[in-house]
Amino acid sequence: MIRLPVKNSDENYYPGKLVCVGRNYREHAEELGNVVPEAPLLFLKPASAVIFSGDKIIHPAYSDNLHYELELVLLIGKDIADANDAEADVALAGYGVGLDMTLRDLQAEEKKLGHPWTLSKCFDTSAVLSDFVLRKDYQLTLDENIILKVNGVVKQNSPLNKMIFKPVELIKYISSRLRLEKGDLIFTGTPAGVGRVIRGDKLEGEITNVAGLYTEIA
Ligand code: MG
Repeated sequence: MIRLPVKNSDENYYPGKLVCVGRNYREHAEELGNVVPEAPLLFLKPASAVIFSGDKIIHPAYSDNLHYELELVLLIGKDIADANDAEADVALAGYGVGLDMTLRDLQAEEKKLGHPWTLSKCFDTSAVLSDFVLRKDYQLTLDENIILKVNGVVKQNSPLNKMIFKPVELIKYISSRLRLEKGDLIFTGTPAGVGRVIRGDKLEGEITNVAGLYTEIA
């Protein structure tokens, strides 16, 4: 079983499900021609998709349009269902940064056909994670920036406060629809600037003062 890397913690966190939020930054929704949703748009990734900083993303041979999406990732520290504001806040254990890798060509086809996003979002190595920082060690203000560089060139750079649905609001909403368990992860959506990567590209992602990751496309 994969154990999540959590700084300054003796506790074990094992990822169960990855709940991902779509279209949570206005400019990103618009760049893909999507409307901004009234409630968080949710989809899942399996824990089997997880790799960590330093590992390589394996580019599937059946896609010609692999995209990066860098996102703030929330670590759930408690089992909760239908949480109120206080319970949702307590369940948020810490933070990391992650890549929600997406096969944009397959996703376009799925959208056209009204199919779920399983094939475009759940492939092996499609979830890249940094180490996590617990809230006792760092309090997120949302004034931090989330920044992705591809081959040293900045491609995404946004303050986290541009998120439409904020962390505790997301946890509360998600828990009203499906139970959250310790070790579950929430990918909170990506800012504008998504784009294609090809084999050999080097990706560096960070949230200032919080976490960083490095990966390559193989
Ligand atoms: Mg995403």
